Amino acid sequence: MTPTAAPSSSNPTGTLSAGTLPILRTVEDLRSQVAAWRREGLTVALVPTMGALHDGHLGLIRRGRELADRVVASVFVNPTQFAPHEDFDRYPRDEGGDAAKLASAGCHALYAPTVRAMYPQGFATAISVGGPAEGLCGTFRPQMFGGVALVVTKLFLQALPDVAVFGEKDYQQLMVIRRFTRDLDIPVRVEGLPTVREADGLAMSSRNAYLSADERARAPELNRALTAAAAALAGGAEVDGALTGIRGRIAEAGFGTIDYVELRDAETLEPVSAVTRPARLLAAAWMGKARLIDNVPVIPAG
Ligand code: AMP
Repeated sequence: MTPTAAPSSSNPTGTLSAGTLPILRTVEDLRSQVAAWRREGLTVALVPTMGALHDGHLGLIRRGRELADRVVASVFVNPTQFAPHEDFDRYPRDEGGDAAKLASAGCHALYAPTVRAMYPQGFATAISVGGPAEGLCGTFRPQMFGGVALVVTKLFLQALPDVAVFGEKDYQQLMVIRRFTRDLDIPVRVEGLPTVREADGLAMSSRNAYLSADERARAPELNRALTAAAAALAGGAEVDGALTGIRGRIAEAGFGTIDYVELRDAETLEPVSAVTRPARLLAAAWMGKARLIDNVPVIPAG
């Protein structure tokens, strides 16, 4: 039988906890926890994740703590954002490890619903997203941003937080979330956190676990190539040449298929052919079985 903690003011529903971290399984438990905080006059931040947590995710928790009195993290590997041939089944899962990391980062509750609780029998609703969802990952993973919009909208409406924190590592996703949150008048502030990187520049990602030791050693070249090109572009380098240079450099480093290397407007994500206002250089490429994405800002000089 599953042990259940005694109800208390910090854990009103008496749900299972990891140390002091309540683990909430149902929307009722989540709402009752948030309501208890609200009764105390506390503000709430939500940090949605798919688990297999690393320091990038924990950076979001720390930012959430700066922005609100209480932070709830969700861990849910969302089936609606994966295509049938993608890695939903083998996506890394480690709830015990995640709960311990969240507790040590000062998170106040973990919301970990089941797939059946999020998408009960008969679930029949989808969200269609355009604008910043078009192109880039939207071309190569056409299912993804609709699925992200659906699950994030549900999480927002379930938790009704004051603020939610997302990583710039998934820059296009952040822009899509900002867009539909505004479009649907969802009263949640969306905050972005700069990408947290390994010492050699590789963006932290749960999918880095798919890399062999040799691939892991080669992978930081993606960030090095983007960073060097961003500096050149900021200094006035020609765009097509810079993008071709990135492709050549990462192919040389051992990346296989390059899904895209593009320069986009930093806010609208529309394609740009010159750097006259803040832009973003974004890329996705395969290293072995891992599809790695990264992006860097390009700020016009002067
Ligand atoms: P995921 O669990 O990969 O779906 O990511 C959950 C959240 O963590 C998203 O907002 C991601 O953008 C963010 N995130 C993932 N990796 C990083 C990173 N290296 N730095 C900052 N945020 C990240």
